[in-house]
Amino acid sequence: MGFEVMEAMQSMGHELVALGTDSDTGLRAIVAIHSTALGPALGGTRMYPYPHDEAALDDALRLAEGMTLKSAAAGLALGGGKAVIIGDPARHKTPALLRAYGRLVDRLGGAYITAEDVGTTVEDMLAIADTTRWVSGLPQAAGGSGDPSPLTARGVLAAMRAVATHLWGSADLADRRVAVQGVGKVGLALAHMLARVGARVLVSDLDGEIARRVAAETGGSSLDPDEVMSAECDVLAPCALGGVLDDHTIPMLRCAAIVGSANNQLAEDRHALLLAERGILYAPDFVVNAGGVINISVEFGVNGYEPEVAGARVDAIESQLASILTEADARGLTPSEAATELATKRIDRARSARPVGHLASTAVSVTP
Ligand code: NAD
Repeated sequence: MGFEVMEAMQSMGHELVALGTDSDTGLRAIVAIHSTALGPALGGTRMYPYPHDEAALDDALRLAEGMTLKSAAAGLALGGGKAVIIGDPARHKTPALLRAYGRLVDRLGGAYITAEDVGTTVEDMLAIADTTRWVSGLPQAAGGSGDPSPLTARGVLAAMRAVATHLWGSADLADRRVAVQGVGKVGLALAHMLARVGARVLVSDLDGEIARRVAAETGGSSLDPDEVMSAECDVLAPCALGGVLDDHTIPMLRCAAIVGSANNQLAEDRHALLLAERGILYAPDFVVNAGGVINISVEFGVNGYEPEVAGARVDAIESQLASILTEADARGLTPSEAATELATKRIDRARSARPVGHLASTAVSVTP
């Protein structure tokens, strides 16, 4: 990594990237702060065995930018950031490494607030909290909002209701065929919620045994991982990793809509247009999967975390997505374009109103 880091940051509009290492624990981490225009940059810490540092940086930059859009579109007073720890969580994650990582987060003085993500858990946040207070998503027993995944799944379901109303005139998902790609923390909760509202669930996971178990629990059926993208269904719900909608997969899709939790589902922005050309409604991932960050944001309210408040705010994704879809149709935009425009307008308004030196001032404006 050299000066191309600065170029990548500048082209995507990032404010700051921090690299951290700790030789005692083997920590290698990158914190990317995309924007603090609306508030401190909040985003999870992903731990993943990236094949090389550039892949880790690219992931951090893209995910941080996505967090900015996500929080802005959801109307939260939060900016966007994300961190990655390079390593295999099963082999390299230790309490000492997490505490060293917490020290890195702490040195950013609150400009970045972390949370859990793929490869990290709510319990890991407790270890990080030993060395920084700029951490959210602690277990509910410790006064935090706990695992955000069930609320993220609840938000995906709310988004599916909006899409169903838009396409079929009713929010009822009974008898709709929904294919869930990835039944991890979010996909599993979503599959169960879908079964409860009478949807016909198709599930797929790299771990075929888990897929078969969830299919049995939900009265649905399981698919091989290479079958799910071409499954005939009403809604495809990508709930695994990003980049699944590309030149190769889009032609094979046989769904009416795509509504899932995975971040950065489009391999490139232009794929939103390809989907529209195929007549497939793509609900922007950063609107659909905002339930987790909305849930965490409730921690920062004057009363601290309140589950009922969080649930109601997450359910509002339904009406929010409904207006984005209506706006997109009215103006001949893709839903992604309409949602990005909404988020960007909010960020630009905040940016034009902020004082010089905003990074430091927003860093102390929220007390977790
Ligand atoms: P997870 O790691 O618990 O689950 C992911 C699952 O997908 C795993 O079971 C994995 O085996 C499976 N998988 C991976 N590749 C697959 C493939 N090609 N086909 C089928 N299955 C595959 O992760 P999670 O927390 O459930 O998150 C899922 C996605 O949602 C991620 O992209 C994450 O960034 C995003 N997201 C999660 C939250 C949250 O609250 N957890 C919030 C916002 C966004």
